[in-house]
Amino acid sequence: MPRPSAITIDLEALKHNAGVAGRLADSKKLMAAVKADAYGHGLIPCSKALEPLVHSLAVAVCEEAVLLREAGIQLPILVLDGPFDRVDIEVINELKLMSVVHSQQQLDLLLPITDKTAPPSVWVKVDTGMHRLGFQPKDLPDVIAQLNGVPDVVVMSHFADGEDPGSELTRRQLDRWNRLGLPIQDGTSFANSAGLINGLAPACEWVRPGIMLYGAPHQNGQGHELLRPVMSFRSAVMAVRTVETGETVGYGGRWQAPRVSRIATIPVGYGDGYPRSAKDGTPVLIGQTLCPLAGRVSMDMITVDVTDCHDCEVGTPVELWGQTLPVNRVAEQADTIGYELLTRMTSRVPRHWRP
Ligand SMILES: *Cc1c(COP(=O)(O)O)cnc(C)c1O
Repeated sequence: MPRPSAITIDLEALKHNAGVAGRLADSKKLMAAVKADAYGHGLIPCSKALEPLVHSLAVAVCEEAVLLREAGIQLPILVLDGPFDRVDIEVINELKLMSVVHSQQQLDLLLPITDKTAPPSVWVKVDTGMHRLGFQPKDLPDVIAQLNGVPDVVVMSHFADGEDPGSELTRRQLDRWNRLGLPIQDGTSFANSAGLINGLAPACEWVRPGIMLYGAPHQNGQGHELLRPVMSFRSAVMAVRTVETGETVGYGGRWQAPRVSRIATIPVGYGDGYPRSAKDGTPVLIGQTLCPLAGRVSMDMITVDVTDCHDCEVGTPVELWGQTLPVNRVAEQADTIGYELLTRMTSRVPRHWRP
């Protein structure tokens, strides 16, 4: 029997979630974020599944856009980081990519714009409060003037705290956005998944959901309960043993048996992307029962306390996260967020796409 650890990507769930995002977006256009290998779900299969359902795709860097075009994907593609150098400018021109510009240096790379080189659309990033990238609001008119000749200019910003619907920071960001005096429809874009789910999106032409498409937003809100997890990370029990009271399990002896215990060993570890920072008690679904992680995560294995699980034997199916166990519940126990766990699965784990 091969090692049973694998990832299943449910493309039907992805399409369903895009439908939910579409309904929340109302009349706004959907740009699907597929950066970082579609958040670890597979850039090409996910983009192909999304192609008929969204208006455009967003990637972080030009290299990701090249992969999309090589796979024959014709949708408009936005490069969120914008160009890093002249090579990127050539790629943007050749593949007719839409590009973000977030600084004058980047704008200088893009200029001068001629009929031949004009990208179909340039997205000007404005810093309303995230303070990572973007032009200051007062410089926007000058930037737009420099982009004279570009067929389509979109002004965009990004929520820093969209997960919290009552956030003071969000209120400040929206305030600065409103003071830009932009048209309420054409050429504007603000919200990510959290903005959409929490109903924060100002009137805009575009919304840019990512994590909600993969069914793992880390906040509740409108439409949240309709989303379906796309990635399921599964394995099976490879060994079961009895451990006497007071004995410890795994490296460093972190977990100590408070009673005579049954321990199941599962062939997944941090070498596969299961977080080493997961604490004792992190839920693992063994058969139909949620059981607590017991002991440090190893490179290739984890150990789980199955004393209270009555149908656990070698070969019993295990879900690390997915359809039944939300990835965010595991992430919480590892002091991180679902985004990180989904995105950093390693190539050792076979991925299967279910149409
Ligand atoms: C990644 C990203 C998004 C999507 O964010 P989610 O939180 O995954 O919905 C939207 N806009 C920008 C600029 C991004 O970088």
